[in-house]
Amino acid sequence: MNVLIVEDDEKILTFVAKGLKEEGFSVDTANSGDEGLYLAQINEYDIIILDWGLPIISGLQICKELRLQKNTTPILMLTAKNDIDDKIESLESGMDDYMTKPFVFRELVARINSLLRRSSYNHTDIITLDTLEVNISKRTVKRANKSIELTSKEFSILVYMLNNKGSIVTHTKLQDKVWGMSEITSSNVINVFVHHLRKKVDIEGELPLIKTIRGSGYKIEANS
Ligand code: CA
Repeated sequence: MNVLIVEDDEKILTFVAKGLKEEGFSVDTANSGDEGLYLAQINEYDIIILDWGLPIISGLQICKELRLQKNTTPILMLTAKNDIDDKIESLESGMDDYMTKPFVFRELVARINSLLRRSSYNHTDIITLDTLEVNISKRTVKRANKSIELTSKEFSILVYMLNNKGSIVTHTKLQDKVWGMSEITSSNVINVFVHHLRKKVDIEGELPLIKTIRGSGYKIEANS
């Protein structure tokens, strides 16, 4: 398992790096935001541990930047108490978990392992729900064993919904995850895409899976 630690506090960086090496991780370190972002972009990590307050580029900015670039590596943020007060911003940044300093090393390891389990679960190649079957690497979709042709946007919407099965997927999330910040679209456009997706996925005689949550967004789940 490869881990990247970005932390400007030399003591914490050394302590965490040493501890994780002893746990069997392969560890890369950076002590500034720009170096951390650079390493995260050129290497593949299984998990990234980011300090929030960093010189040049903050941990929060790194997190947002990586998610914009469709980097889905799990991110655990280390924060000072007050950082997390801006909860909305932190939740929207795309981090997966955070720990408030000072922390106990055993808990850090436990959280890392939990994130790694979650991400390996998310990376399963075939996702099924009721009679819907999506093969991520082959980019194929079947409903009740019949092939469905989806556009690439429809496919991305469906996979994002399936990865968040049972939770409300908002327009903002879809904008962020499917279109990205360089391609701003409207709620109406998103509605049209979901409408087409639903017509293809929720075929006659099968359980409807995609639900509209009025005023919020959508949800995919198998219980009617
Ligand atoms: Ca710091």
